[in-house]
Amino acid sequence: MICIKCGLTKRGSKDFFECDDCGEFSKLVKIVFEDVHEQMEHSASIDPDSYPILRLLADSSFITSKNPQTAIFYKISDYLVSRAFTGATEVTEEELNRYVVTTRGWSDALKVFEELNLLKVRMEKYMRFLVLTDKTRKFASQYLSAEKLSDIGIRIRLAHIYAGYVLLSILNKMAYLSEESFSKSTLPYDQRPRTLWVTLMFLWSNAYRNSETFSEEELRVFVSRRRIPSATRGKIVGALHAMDGRSTQGLIKEVRIENGERKFAFDDYVMVEMQRIRQLIRERGR
Ligand SMILES: [Zn+2]
Repeated sequence: MICIKCGLTKRGSKDFFECDDCGEFSKLVKIVFEDVHEQMEHSASIDPDSYPILRLLADSSFITSKNPQTAIFYKISDYLVSRAFTGATEVTEEELNRYVVTTRGWSDALKVFEELNLLKVRMEKYMRFLVLTDKTRKFASQYLSAEKLSDIGIRIRLAHIYAGYVLLSILNKMAYLSEESFSKSTLPYDQRPRTLWVTLMFLWSNAYRNSETFSEEELRVFVSRRRIPSATRGKIVGALHAMDGRSTQGLIKEVRIENGERKFAFDDYVMVEMQRIRQLIRERGR
């Protein structure tokens, strides 16, 4: 049997099943998405310093931003945020083509942005125009008057949050797949972003279970069992080591060697935020 979400296999009588880790992680993804979506829709400001969940999102999206399955969403996000930053209200398909190099069609990716009301697609003379919605413009302009704007790190940080939100919405679709109904047709490009899912499942679930550290070996075992190639795993570990500034991830505060093995320690804010999520899940009785 193969897990419909992460690809884990085990012996059994059916072809497909959902593994326990994916079942638990699906609950976590649903509640984090609701929480983030609520803030993106209604908050006056979308500031990662006041909303650590957004920081978690930005830090998480950094880790897989170069993965081929997710890179297109990351690149579109980066471009839209940078255009919105300059006050643009529309982006043409031609401009997008110049900035985001991809062999994939645009429709599936843009649909995700449209569903989140981040943009509207308008056709004119066989060309797409991406109209940036108030939601996107508000998101980018919240720092326009701030002194920190000169800092290029802020733009990159915002792009990470924006991309993290988009990717989380895809994970949320995946969380709703079930043993009875697991057609990939609800997902962009009919594809499960499995590397993103498995990586975040490992990281978030560890923190969620209140375990402050994990070893590289634990990560290796977890992702290898789910047939993530070792080269991909190497990139993830590399990203986890990058923790020296605003444009890098902040999930991990320290890497140390214990008994000849590399151990990663989560930043304190990750543990505090996961405690809040545990509380949310308890309150909502899931
Ligand atoms: Zn699974």
